[in-house]
Amino acid sequence: MTDPLPPKKEFEPSTGSDADITYETNNEAINKANSVSDNSSDEIIEIEKSGLDTVLDQALRPQTFADYIGQDQIKDNLKILLQAAKERSASPEHILFYGPPGLGKTTLALLIANEIGAQIKTTSGPAIERVGDLASILTNLSPGDILFIDEIHRLNKTVEEVLYPAMESGHIDIIIGKGPSARTIQLELPPFTLIAATTRIAMISSPLRSRFGGGVFRLEFYTNEQIEKIIRRSSTLLNLKHSIETEDSSLSEIAVRSRKTPRTANYLLKRARDYAQVHKSPLTKKIAEDALNLIGIDDHGLSQSDIQILRIIAEKYNGGPVGLNTIAAALSEDQGTIEEFNEPYLIQLGFIERTPRGRVISDSGYKHLGIEPQIKN
Ligand code: ADP
Repeated sequence: MTDPLPPKKEFEPSTGSDADITYETNNEAINKANSVSDNSSDEIIEIEKSGLDTVLDQALRPQTFADYIGQDQIKDNLKILLQAAKERSASPEHILFYGPPGLGKTTLALLIANEIGAQIKTTSGPAIERVGDLASILTNLSPGDILFIDEIHRLNKTVEEVLYPAMESGHIDIIIGKGPSARTIQLELPPFTLIAATTRIAMISSPLRSRFGGGVFRLEFYTNEQIEKIIRRSSTLLNLKHSIETEDSSLSEIAVRSRKTPRTANYLLKRARDYAQVHKSPLTKKIAEDALNLIGIDDHGLSQSDIQILRIIAEKYNGGPVGLNTIAAALSEDQGTIEEFNEPYLIQLGFIERTPRGRVISDSGYKHLGIEPQIKN
């Protein structure tokens, strides 16, 4: 299945196994913890992010709560949490953010660190494969640090269990050696705040979830007006690099097609600017439309894979209900990608519904495909 998605952050999984739970300092894990990898992969466009793109992406990331548009309720809660912690000279309690990719979870973690002047170490669930990886990350934290774990739903169970006492009472129990000579030692950790993010809240066990004392926050899709504000700011920042005149109407067009997601909106803005630059034209509404049509994004922001999903439900399965695994098999796509990326937006638009028996296309979904809705008995 082809899909012009914006490049997604990916993390290298570590190698090794948990069979031998021997504590060792693992520099690889620390290196991973210190960097957010920004590898890009994209099925249609195969864009390898150029150095410039990466720099621009960082430049576009809001640095203050004032620049972080929307999610007002979350911001208000965080401000109280941070202020209260500051007044007590304590680390804020652990926080979990969840919601579809690209809505600003990582950005919030970075903003929190910025706000309280803390160092942040960043890693991800799949990168922490062994207990030793987690132990070395935690024991290398300095007092007051923030540890950000992205994709925490992909943390394995053994590692997760070591995380519980670390979150709750600030220590870890590790086994040194093997066989009869093995012994457990308890290591005290410096006070830290864990900020975690997930796109799959249902996969977070309730013991883990309950340990996020600072709050579990769900990020919402953005309104078109909020997205427009975000890309207006981005276009101002991009203009510093290449001066391409940008008409407001082009920003509205990009906002409408951005899946209500800031990462997608910034990505489409950059591609529309490329198109304008190559055509030696200002970035007008028409140029934006042409650029986005070329990428394969329709007027509702649907990509070709979204359309294929709708078509499969409508045409192959008579409107549904049809199971997600059947849809994934019909598209030769990973079920997780559909669940994390495609489905939330299709549900948000009201084009499909989730029922106990599977996914069903709605009348507006049929309408979008230009097909007459099925009359069902
Ligand atoms: P997530 O971690 O949820 O996948 P990110 O935090 O990496 O998403 O956000 C993707 C990009 O979108 C960021 O680089 C940032 O430029 C932009 N972004 C996200 N949320 C906002 C926001 N509320 N205001 C402005 N820009 C945002």
